[in-house]
Amino acid sequence: MAAGLLSGKAALVTGASRGIGRAIALQLADAGAAVALVARDIGKLEDLARRLDSTGTKTVYNSFDLALEDSINNLVDWLREKDFHVDILVNNAGIYGTDSIAMEEYCGWDSGAKSSLSLWNKTLAVNLSAAFGLARLLAPQMVEKRWGRIINISSISGQKAEVFGTAYSASKFGLIGVTQSLALELARHGVTVNSVCPGWVATDMAEEQINDPEWCRLNDINPEESLDIARLSVPQMRLIQPDEVASLVGYLCTDSARGITGQAINICGGLSIT
Ligand code: NAD
Repeated sequence: MAAGLLSGKAALVTGASRGIGRAIALQLADAGAAVALVARDIGKLEDLARRLDSTGTKTVYNSFDLALEDSINNLVDWLREKDFHVDILVNNAGIYGTDSIAMEEYCGWDSGAKSSLSLWNKTLAVNLSAAFGLARLLAPQMVEKRWGRIINISSISGQKAEVFGTAYSASKFGLIGVTQSLALELARHGVTVNSVCPGWVATDMAEEQINDPEWCRLNDINPEESLDIARLSVPQMRLIQPDEVASLVGYLCTDSARGITGQAINICGGLSIT
């Protein structure tokens, strides 16, 4: 992104400690935005904040567990204390967990990855409720300024089924629903709301999923071949890099993208059309 394109803007990026969120924070900062970094791992946030501070970016950071309802209010209170007025909200924090509904009853083997309501609740809390919670508290200040961007990192799994990932898939479908509803509500106030839907992206989350013995077993994949299988499932035969997703997010933050709202934009190397 061109330097200065987002100067004067302030962005909150959740899940900024690693992977896609980290790449987004770096690109928005490069384009001149001040950034608020939130995730669970304070150490990694500290490292990133140090790097950004050294480039003159106004940076604040803090650890919040977005699975907890109280964290949403606490996060917004903390931003207020820091005098950090959010123009751009990137709801990126997310978790994935393999789940399966008692397949052993049908197949005679123990999946070892039974679905649980606690995984369901936690996945929906982090991936969906936190995104809505932050949007509802932060949108009013965007409306007041008549300028704002809300970008929800959904997934291709928010558009087509993720086998053995029902909770994840439900949360990502839900995020696209939140995106469309809020986009309509905010359309006349200068605030755009979009979903970005990655396919396989080369991050720790993808690596953990690909290497998860339970996920391999359920999908009948040899763990040694699982990375190749994931890669070859993509028409471009590669995993997307985090900075490719970040560039798309960066573009959606610009004034040139002001006409794009309520969309779910895929970045998946063609995976969505297979
Ligand atoms: P990652 O696991 O590498 O990073 C996730 C980030 O979310 C971390 O910063 C983590 O601290 C934060 N986070 C997780 N749970 C949290 C909680 N309870 N409270 C606060 N922060 C929490 O994941 P990633 O691959 O960078 O994924 C980022 C987003 O992109 C996620 O929403 C994910 O679902 C989505 N996505 C990823 C892929 C992929 O292949 N990697 C594909 C499609 C969508």
